[in-house]
Amino acid sequence: MTGKPIHDICDIDAVVAGRARLTVEQAIELYRHASIHDLGEWATTAADRMHGNKVRTYVIDRNVNYTNVCSAKCTFCAFRRDDGDDDAYVLSKNELRTKIGELADIGGTQVLLQGGMHPDLPIAFYEDLLGWLSDEFPQVHLHAFSPPEFVEFVAVFDIDGFPTPGATRAGELPRDVFVAKLEAIMKRLRDAGLKSLPGGGGEILVEHVRRRIGSTKATGTEWLDVMRVAHQLGMFTSSTMMFGHIEGVADRFMHMGMIRDAQDEAMKNLWPGRYVSFISWPFQPDHTPLGRVPQWDPESNEPFAGDALADAVLHGEVDPFDKAACGLAHKQAGKQLRLAGATDYLRTQALSRLFFDNIHSIGASWVTMGPKIGQLGLKFGANDMGSVMMEENVVSAAGTTYCLNEAEICRLIRAAGYTPAQRDNTYDFIAVHETTGPDLDVADWSAHRPASSAFAEPDHDGKVELTISESVEY
Ligand code: SF4
Repeated sequence: MTGKPIHDICDIDAVVAGRARLTVEQAIELYRHASIHDLGEWATTAADRMHGNKVRTYVIDRNVNYTNVCSAKCTFCAFRRDDGDDDAYVLSKNELRTKIGELADIGGTQVLLQGGMHPDLPIAFYEDLLGWLSDEFPQVHLHAFSPPEFVEFVAVFDIDGFPTPGATRAGELPRDVFVAKLEAIMKRLRDAGLKSLPGGGGEILVEHVRRRIGSTKATGTEWLDVMRVAHQLGMFTSSTMMFGHIEGVADRFMHMGMIRDAQDEAMKNLWPGRYVSFISWPFQPDHTPLGRVPQWDPESNEPFAGDALADAVLHGEVDPFDKAACGLAHKQAGKQLRLAGATDYLRTQALSRLFFDNIHSIGASWVTMGPKIGQLGLKFGANDMGSVMMEENVVSAAGTTYCLNEAEICRLIRAAGYTPAQRDNTYDFIAVHETTGPDLDVADWSAHRPASSAFAEPDHDGKVELTISESVEY
């Protein structure tokens, strides 16, 4: 990084101490000019201030993709299928009982339930599913249905008092009708057993990036509307960012700014729900359409076009909703890929800790970078190692294969200098493993080597059930 003095950018001591808030512009400047060592130190100090310097957490949950049938065609996705494809599926109750029973057997506390956005399942299917799961597994928290799924629900559910479905996009409804129908649906699913929402489908919320990488699912406005309604109805949600593709650096911080503003709104209005966490991870290109976009050559004299367009949007020179204007302003934007490596990931995550003064938890996402970088993430602002979980299908379909079990997660946390603690969905401790714990019970670590290829194939038939893996909080 090159040398603009930090004190010319912001009062970093005040930011780290929680007395000042970073602007989007300052965060971009820090990303470009601060050393990675400084970023790590600042983010760790901020995390220690918010979480203490002793304990770092993980959760045991299971990511159950109840269907892989999806009406969206995100260019970064290798998981989706069309209805009628040979390997398209909707899980039966028997399959669900087996999967969640295994989770309960190992002390798991949460199931992360999400599709595929199936275009033909009615609301009664979901009400029945949630009610049945609540009865069968009352000890398991149902964390389900990311915002794009809710947008699909609004489009396809036929419920009293709202226009008969027929619109292929919820976005074809007037916004007040969309929000009212969304609220009616969410209330019914909450009453059936839904407890909280994952922040999947966030990617990059800024519209000019979003429409290029996932044009048929939720817009940024819709994504934020879903979370706003969830917060009004008293549910906690996570938030996410997938970066390292066509976006500029400024897009990452504009994305974070949209979430931080939404959290400010929730807090100002004393809504009973909140964003409780933020987790970011680099795009995984294997087997995805977006991964076939030519990579930008950093050795060339050409600047990355995504940065040029993002900067123009940030400075109000281009309307991100004006597709033609965006295309004209920077023709190569969206046509070049800039993948993110480990340092990019750590810098971005550290800045997310410094930026989000109103979000409790920052999660380390080692699924894409591996256990060691994930562990290092604890020294770059993360207070949580995310999910020690039994199944992940979406990221693994794009080639990611890191797997760890609970003992290994605890070992990574302890080796980083912290006491590992299992947490619940609201970040309360379930078990703090100070002098005893899953890692301390292991006599022979040679049998606990992290697997690196357990998810050779996306799976829903039980073959990888006992492999414990981490997933992005999708
Ligand atoms: S990322 Fe999710 S919403 Fe997008 S195509 Fe894949 S399954 Fe569907």
